[in-house]
Amino acid sequence: MHVLVLNCGSSSLKFQIIATDVQAIKNNSDRCLVKGEVERIGSQSLINYEVPGRPIVKKTDPIANHQAAIELVLRWVISQKSGIEQINSYADIHAVGHRVVHGGEQFSHSILIDQQVIEGIEGCVELAPLHNPANIKGIKIATKLLGSAVPQVAVFDTAFHATMPEHAYLYGLPYEYYRRHKIRRYGFHGTSHRYIAYQYRAITGLSKSSTDIISLHLGNGCSACAIKDGLSIDTSMGFTPLEGLLMGTRSGDVDASILEYLHLQEGMDFNDLDKMLNKRSGLLGISGLTSDMRELLEEESEKQDRRAKLAIDIFCRRVKRYIGKYFVEMDGEVDAIVFTGGIGENSAEIRHRICAGLQCLGLQLDNDKNQQMVNEHDGKISTVDSAFHAYVIPTNEELMIARDTVRAIDKKGH
Ligand code: ADP
Repeated sequence: MHVLVLNCGSSSLKFQIIATDVQAIKNNSDRCLVKGEVERIGSQSLINYEVPGRPIVKKTDPIANHQAAIELVLRWVISQKSGIEQINSYADIHAVGHRVVHGGEQFSHSILIDQQVIEGIEGCVELAPLHNPANIKGIKIATKLLGSAVPQVAVFDTAFHATMPEHAYLYGLPYEYYRRHKIRRYGFHGTSHRYIAYQYRAITGLSKSSTDIISLHLGNGCSACAIKDGLSIDTSMGFTPLEGLLMGTRSGDVDASILEYLHLQEGMDFNDLDKMLNKRSGLLGISGLTSDMRELLEEESEKQDRRAKLAIDIFCRRVKRYIGKYFVEMDGEVDAIVFTGGIGENSAEIRHRICAGLQCLGLQLDNDKNQQMVNEHDGKISTVDSAFHAYVIPTNEELMIARDTVRAIDKKGH
């Protein structure tokens, strides 16, 4: 089965086509046929396509909206010039899996999309006003282009965290706001953390019920997740993805009273404050240079930039703080911390700085293995006699979405 995976952002589109089915999932033999991205939809867009074994194709084109973007991508995919032998017409796309950011309290699993599900996702728009409308657009456009007979499945970023207990998801706010407005912690990056738990089991041979890890997704967005018995029991993102770790441009945890103070001192309104917290803070805000960790590490080592160093330091300490917090929440029964995401997978230096000092919890980092991961990208980076371990596991949310799509269709007997 060829599954088109769509991740529609507010002005971007990421996509993959993955050849998979129930048997391929069992054998771990699913294959990515193409992946790509359209950035800056609504203006001069940047498009790139990657077909395994062929050179990456990069283009710029004015693309007005998501429909034009999806049409353009699919036209290219089915054309001869893409070189994808298996896909020659829309009929060669058998199912669509959508990343949907917010499933609220309603969706705790991936689900085959019908009118009721669309209404449910629309019901969560207020919780994710930038993301869910783009996700709904993606679903409607796919129906229009591929026909309603092609099954589509929604895979929610929040779903994996549905197992969080009340004490982890409630804020210390008056309970009535939870009752009236569902103000609580939902958590995000769930598909990534679930993939990490799954892949950790595949590597170690452990069963789901004995998977006790702290998953650290460190990319532009960052979150930590405490996974006990294979289930999420706590995560660092909250009502929105703003809470928790320091990120590329998001502040992570702050004292909410700062907002009123800034409103009074600087005349900033809610819109300004929201932009400041989500777009101008984090690594970018502290360094005053960039949100890109690789560039910050270069600034620090080549120019000894003080604020670049400070931003990296705060970033690493915040991750450590969450490791400590989850260690306690899991009663010290942690088998491993797992690094993933662009920073977690690629930066031996950041992994080293985060692990420094964790000897007090029994972690012994194997420095050679940590460095080797630059080339190997997968596996254990702690010593054999470490009391608990550290791993690097590359995330693959798209694969998880494609597999969930196959499973949801299979379950409904399509
Ligand atoms: P997104 O969250 O948008 O998917 P990624 O997971 O791709 O982003 O992570 C992007 C981040 O990873 C950027 O800060 C980038 O600098 C960082 N990164 C990628 N490669 C390296 C590297 N070799 N060293 C340090 N940081 C890296």
